[in-house]
Amino acid sequence: MSNLTANLITIDGPAASGKSSVSRELARKLGWKWVSTGAFYRGLAYVAMKEGVAPTDTAQLVRLAHSGVWSVRLDEDQTRVFYKKDDVTVEILSEENGTRASKVSQIPEVRQALLENQRDCAVGVTGLVAEGRDCGTVVFPQALLKIYLTASQEERAARRAREHGLNVQETQNSQQKRDQQDSSRAAAPLQIPDDARVVDSGGMGLAEVVEKVYSWATQAMAQSVKSF
Ligand code: C5P
Repeated sequence: MSNLTANLITIDGPAASGKSSVSRELARKLGWKWVSTGAFYRGLAYVAMKEGVAPTDTAQLVRLAHSGVWSVRLDEDQTRVFYKKDDVTVEILSEENGTRASKVSQIPEVRQALLENQRDCAVGVTGLVAEGRDCGTVVFPQALLKIYLTASQEERAARRAREHGLNVQETQNSQQKRDQQDSSRAAAPLQIPDDARVVDSGGMGLAEVVEKVYSWATQAMAQSVKSF
């Protein structure tokens, strides 16, 4: 990890806080790659379900994490997941699979097994925007700029329910449970990195959030060149 030369920006935050949309647009503006690290947890949880592996079976989950039966690909529009050559990106994004992902993500051995592949996303690229729960604290603690993106529970649930055609209250209940689980776990919990800038996107449009983060990114890059 220490010899990585890519510029790094991390965006962490709770469920449906807009991390993927902001990362996608920010990466586009900067001409960089972006990755949803949640796709690794969602992908593993989905594949485990398909392969009949329980979300509590540490040894089998670690084996599956390293197995060639599934893979992750960084596209401009999405972090795509393939299982036995099928593109399962849409399937993994269900709230039901998010709950499964949150369960497997509690296990330290599983997190460790997925870490190297997440870090590899920054190899051979000019820059990477990485979003998730522990990107600024664990995956890329050396990042140039760290963002913690949030919004009220109501707004986040309404956003996700609209995107997936779901009931708002049920979505809110499920997200609340997932956030609670992600924040209270012992291994790499969701938290605001010490050196992060917090953005509450409540009442803000996507373009406004992206513009704000983009201006911080250009400042941070100019500063890192000066201090080099
Ligand atoms: O971000 P997304 O909703 O796709 O993440 C799904 C789940 O994966 C989260 O609820 C969390 O449990 C787990 N996750 C994680 N660490 C990350 C990204 C996601 O534990 N860096």
